[in-house]
Amino acid sequence: MTATISPDQERRLLDSVPTGLLIDGQWRPASDGGTLDVHDPSTGELLLTIASASADDGQAALGAAHAAQASWARSAPRERAEILRKAFELVTARTEDFALLMTLEMGKPLTDSRAEVAYGAEFLRWFSEQTNRVAGRYQTAPDGKSRLLVAKRPVGPSLLITPWNFPLAMGTRKIGPALAAGCTIVFKPAALTPLTSLLLAQTLIEAGVPDGVINVIPTRHAGAVTGPLIRDPRLRKLSFTGSTEVGRRLIADSAEQVLRVSMELGGNAPLIVFADADLDRAVDGAMLAKLRNGGEACTAANRILVESPVAEAFADRLTSRFREHTLGRGTLPDVKIGPLVDEETRTKVERLVEAAVDSGAKVRTGGRKVPGAGYFYEPTVLTDIPADAEILREEIFGPVAPIITFDTEDEAVELANATEYGLVAYAFTKDLNRGLRLVERLDAGMIGLNTGIVSNPAAPFGGVKQSGIGREGGLEGIEEYLETRYVGIADPFADGA
Ligand code: NAP
Repeated sequence: MTATISPDQERRLLDSVPTGLLIDGQWRPASDGGTLDVHDPSTGELLLTIASASADDGQAALGAAHAAQASWARSAPRERAEILRKAFELVTARTEDFALLMTLEMGKPLTDSRAEVAYGAEFLRWFSEQTNRVAGRYQTAPDGKSRLLVAKRPVGPSLLITPWNFPLAMGTRKIGPALAAGCTIVFKPAALTPLTSLLLAQTLIEAGVPDGVINVIPTRHAGAVTGPLIRDPRLRKLSFTGSTEVGRRLIADSAEQVLRVSMELGGNAPLIVFADADLDRAVDGAMLAKLRNGGEACTAANRILVESPVAEAFADRLTSRFREHTLGRGTLPDVKIGPLVDEETRTKVERLVEAAVDSGAKVRTGGRKVPGAGYFYEPTVLTDIPADAEILREEIFGPVAPIITFDTEDEAVELANATEYGLVAYAFTKDLNRGLRLVERLDAGMIGLNTGIVSNPAAPFGGVKQSGIGREGGLEGIEEYLETRYVGIADPFADGA
């Protein structure tokens, strides 16, 4: 669809979004009257003012989740499955609303937002299907003298904290498995993009999620509200997606209550192009891996490694593709890249590019912020980057592609693994054995082989090293919300029967 969205359409949608906190099935203002302003990153203008939870509201949300836990855990798996299925259908039916809301608060073009609605809704359907498949086992002990019963149980009340870059999918990727497993939820979305989460919460209630099972507390005071929850013995699980810096701190805080944690943290993905690759496919893959979501993705290709004989041809083709990418407000037809989410994010991108250029990098295209309203930054290709440049170590989180060259497979692997992160790595080659060697040698939780996208609700998403702990999606995702209970049973034949 390429029609322009009218200001009236935007206003009507914004006016339909709940602006309160959702606690125990009720929408309410913050206990201290606190509010949070949400802005449009393409203009800097105010979109909506919503309630900002206080520490007391956090306690009330956890109280409601704790009170609802026992009955939610006992509910029939099929009942939970059908609520999740209904939620999938409702979100899908409202694709245009969810997409527009995400574009307004986060900035990405509507085409990217629609793709996120499909991806995000799919977690609800996938986990609705998983709900009925949670199983245990019954076995005879090796010595034949007892029986072993192993059962799965929900972990219990779970705190879910999400980032701003995928306002719908980062929520459903946690909410889906938590609800499927029978856990109740306190959900704290990012302060920059809470509106999509509020609309999602309204949709979940409409789908039949009972009072207290999901509580949503956007806030301007993340640490002050969630800190006491993490130290509260009623909380049994913390699932966090965000930066490694904050994740590391939350792991330390979680030690006090020995809380179960799942951490989806930062990335510094290498994308490796060998001379034997299909170059068109590699350029397409790099476009996706770099520019999807405007480069504001943990899976974004942060370092593009190209084998010397094809480096110049690859850089030329990538540069001309980058030049075709139209920058603008995400609601406008044909816009391929929206603004960055805020001035802080843009300043970081600007600083990394300037430092690389000062130390000798060449700008093939872009390299500047766009003057005027909004936080726009030009799609940028850099080559001739010194090996020790900060841009190769830091998560860029913007539309900047640094290209570096290598001469051997060993050198490529060494460069790719030279990071404390290990979320995803991409490799392009037509040599099957080389591809399989790379799958074994690259230090990453996920590998994209001849593809620039790996995200799939049916696959386990997650990283190694400082990119995190645990997996979301796939068969593994629900396990993060389940405990294993073992029951030892005396030999039923012991009395001679
Ligand atoms: P962030 O600054 O770490 O924030 C993430 C969430 O944590 C937000 O809800 C934030 O609240 C909250 N938060 C911040 N400080 C906190 C504290 N002291 N206690 C409790 N919560 C706190 O990350 P971001 O800038 O939103 O997102 C970008 C990062 O997320 C990147 O590093 C990216 O790689 C990572 N990410 C990882 C994945 C993955 O699956 N591995 C997926 C997407 C993004 P406020 O909004 O109020 O600050």
